[in-house]
Amino acid sequence: MHEVPRQREYTFRVSHIVKTPYTVPVFDLLHRPGEMRERELDIVVPEGFGNAVIQVPTGGELHVDVRMESLHDGILVSADVTGTAVGECVRCLIEVRLPIEVDIQELFAYSEDEAFDYQVHEDTIDLEPVVRDAVVLSLPFQPVCQEDCSGLCPQCGVRLLDNPGHEHEAPVDPRWAALAGLEGLTGAPTNDVDGAESSGAAEEKR
Ligand SMILES: [Zn+2]
Ligand SMILES: [Zn+2]
Repeated sequence: MHEVPRQREYTFRVSHIVKTPYTVPVFDLLHRPGEMRERELDIVVPEGFGNAVIQVPTGGELHVDVRMESLHDGILVSADVTGTAVGECVRCLIEVRLPIEVDIQELFAYSEDEAFDYQVHEDTIDLEPVVRDAVVLSLPFQPVCQEDCSGLCPQCGVRLLDNPGHEHEAPVDPRWAALAGLEGLTGAPTNDVDGAESSGAAEEKR
């Protein structure tokens, strides 16, 4: 259903500069060394990005304070990027929201020479790759909900921070548990319910 518009957009991209929320016009700075402009961008992220465990989600917001200085060979961009990254605590798996705060400084060159990573295109610059790279680099690979998160109980999976003092009785010997199961099949009487049944039965055996 979306095949046709996407293809059209691609064709458009080849022949023109596509304006995105990251595109900044610089026509009033071109080849005017010494000129300086400041802008603020509030970007609603069109396509989420990040690493496997934490991302700036699609529809998330980035605030970018941009300062652009016209130099002889291009436009020097300095920017502060702030926003919120959303991910999962690698220990207990609850949602984690982390503030993003990164500084960027890059030259957007007039030259098409590949020696420059970024170029001025017509009369615009595209901050997207610069912002994305800097933000992705700043994201943790092991986000945690708090530094002392002790994760999940390896036996039952409850979040230990929510259950202080959580512990289990000594684990049931699997051989006893199997016997208890057999007794259950032969109709041995038990007042225990469900999960407690096997440990209760094992208890009687001791
Ligand atoms: Zn956690
Ligand atoms: Zn547990």
